[in-house]
Amino acid sequence: MKHEKSVAAFKEAFEVIPGGVDSPVRAFKAVGGYPPFISHGKGGYIYDIDGNEYIDFVQSWGPLIFGHADSDIENAVIDAVKKGLSFGAPTLLETELAKEVIAIYPFMDKLRFVSSGTEAVMSAIRLARGFTKKDDIVKFKGCYHGHSDSLLVQAGSGAATFGTPSSPGVPADLVKHTLLAEYNNIENIRECFKDSKNIACVIIEPIAGNMGLVPASEEFLKELRELCDKNGALLIFDEVMSGFRASLNGAMGHTSVVPDMATFGKVIGAGMPVGAFGARAEIMAHLSPEGPVYQAGTLSGNPVAMAAGIASIKKLKADKNIYKDLEAKALRLANGLKLAAKEAGVDIQTTVRGSMFGFFFSETPVNNFADAAKCDGEFFAKFHQGMLEEGVYLACSLFEAGFISTKTTNEMIDKSVAAAERVLKKIK
Ligand SMILES: *Cc1c(COP(=O)(O)O)cnc(C)c1O
Repeated sequence: MKHEKSVAAFKEAFEVIPGGVDSPVRAFKAVGGYPPFISHGKGGYIYDIDGNEYIDFVQSWGPLIFGHADSDIENAVIDAVKKGLSFGAPTLLETELAKEVIAIYPFMDKLRFVSSGTEAVMSAIRLARGFTKKDDIVKFKGCYHGHSDSLLVQAGSGAATFGTPSSPGVPADLVKHTLLAEYNNIENIRECFKDSKNIACVIIEPIAGNMGLVPASEEFLKELRELCDKNGALLIFDEVMSGFRASLNGAMGHTSVVPDMATFGKVIGAGMPVGAFGARAEIMAHLSPEGPVYQAGTLSGNPVAMAAGIASIKKLKADKNIYKDLEAKALRLANGLKLAAKEAGVDIQTTVRGSMFGFFFSETPVNNFADAAKCDGEFFAKFHQGMLEEGVYLACSLFEAGFISTKTTNEMIDKSVAAAERVLKKIK
């Protein structure tokens, strides 16, 4: 496989864009080598500027559940574009998409649209604080909720549960209200509620996709729900990745636990920049202009982005078998990878939730970030490089989930599994 044009493009980008990329993971730092520069995508494939074809299991990090350049979504976007790109005034499209989403998540009465997952979570947390009149929040190690200040925290060396900034530029004063807990560890959450009587909300990826794919156990979510209720804290499900991915109603298709608020992104915009957050009317009534909690956006509810979201959600609702088919394919891939690893004598753990899949080269199950962090990053990097050369595009970090689209065929999966077997045998 030739990569000259991508290598040159990366160097050129490097001159004018920090690290050559507009979002750090794209730089391939965790796996080495150069990122392919993409010229276009079609269905389940992407093509780089050197003319290489890849089976795409990243799908723009989740949004493209119908693959690349789906004609229905494309047509909806083109129709919207012809009417004007943005008005900064209400359109019918916002109400339509809000109704579509609320019908899928009936615990929400109202929804507000923003332009990214980061913005959705940041706004949801402000609203939770405004509603409860409390300042502290709890997040879990290994869950990602975007790059807003109060969520860029890591375990501190001092207090057991209070975090320290994970990035320069985030004042310690801003994260001192963020408590950190271990995923799937209910004792840890109990401690948080002992350490602080001022907890506004607990935010969780109920199916974590940002430490590899690690679902929360049903028992854990149930106890978490009880603790939030007992302590007057809101429970927020961050469904930016799992929403419309793990099932039509995201993680809620896999658990009986109902949150107070949910945040969305990725699939809700089908590849256009859309985020959203919603809750019952009583909570949403605190949001301006109905209530005092301020939140705004010049491009929020953008008509072109709304059109893409509507087309995508309608298509997801129209086909009753869609998630069964997606999950069958995800399982075919996961089971194939397991067999390939076995043949090569490599330990592997796999997980599937709807169209999401994950794998760890680990002897033991992965239930939290500490387990995930124990996995051999160098081995993953070699696997990733090998697969890329075989024409299989996987997320360039072991802490990411993978995705099946409706355009991913069994043939593509079998090809990828055969490639994995060759690569694993070679790097073992
Ligand atoms: C991707 C992601 C975000 C951030 O969304 P952006 O659109 O990248 O800002 C937040 N939460 C979760 C769970 C995500 O996967």
